[in-house]
Amino acid sequence: MKKWEVQDSVKNAFLNPAAAFALGAFCGLAIGMLCMPFSKGIVIGSYNGSNNKGIPRRRGLYYRCRSIRIIRKEEFVMNKALRKAIIAGNWKMNKNRKEAAELINALKPIAADKTCGVIICVPFTNLETALSLTEGTNIEVGAENVHFEKSGAFTGEISADMLTEMGVKYVIVGHSERRQYFGETDETVNKRTTAAIEAGMTVILCVGETLAERELGITEEVVAKQVKVALHGLTADQVKNIVIAYEPVWAIGTGKTATAEQAEEVCAFIRATVASLYDQAIANGMTIQYGGSMNEKNCAELLAKENIDGGLIGGASLVAEKFGVLLAEASK
Ligand code: PEP
Repeated sequence: MKKWEVQDSVKNAFLNPAAAFALGAFCGLAIGMLCMPFSKGIVIGSYNGSNNKGIPRRRGLYYRCRSIRIIRKEEFVMNKALRKAIIAGNWKMNKNRKEAAELINALKPIAADKTCGVIICVPFTNLETALSLTEGTNIEVGAENVHFEKSGAFTGEISADMLTEMGVKYVIVGHSERRQYFGETDETVNKRTTAAIEAGMTVILCVGETLAERELGITEEVVAKQVKVALHGLTADQVKNIVIAYEPVWAIGTGKTATAEQAEEVCAFIRATVASLYDQAIANGMTIQYGGSMNEKNCAELLAKENIDGGLIGGASLVAEKFGVLLAEASK
């Protein structure tokens, strides 16, 4: 083929639409492959997310820069049904041993067929009773606080080892009443959380803003700081044993519940914060509860929200029938 004949056929290729398309596609592919090391890559997968606070809401095929990244299944499945819903009662400083036994005995048949996690966090003086009465049932027992030292001169405190030796597997840490009345800080919450996790317990970590903080518009800053400091130093594996309870201080024991939308918004924000600290899979797997005057009347709307996986319940956990309604709703 002569030189002018080759030039002619290239020229013809540009004039022929099909050939031009093929040539364009070839060039595009070549340029794309050359640029791949410098780009963030192509992500294949889909997020089924529904929140609006930093967790991607993406479906289908989309482009993302820096390396080809195939998203692991658990990373993009944002399915609430895959997480364990847990209803935990916080008895606070209520019930003597006789009353505790009556409440647990009334609760046992009510809880028996429920599929959600059922925990009762009781005063230290009721732990023994609760542990023996719930043996062989689906009711788990938790403490309401734990100290961060293993032993020593800490009058009035109880260590994580003391709790686990009894068979207690759960503990509430950072409840707002501890923060408000007993000088608990984010730093001591971190120490208590770490001690409990290292002892093999599951921690129900409470966070939440005061009314003044909400009115100042700094709810997210407050909650993000509480979560970040509390989880500081914990590995991804350790965080799998943490349940976060979002409890706006202004809603606890006041009869004032956050609206389902307010609660969902902050729970989604907490999940996004956990994702930013660890990864999306850890965040997606984490049980995040709402707490604050949740009761048998308002629980359905709250528990239906995508990012609310149960509740930490004060007042309504002291009456077996009321607590039972919450258990039934969370088991749906
Ligand atoms: C709590 O003690 O954590 C709590 C949410 O209490 P109440 O349900 O009574 O508001």
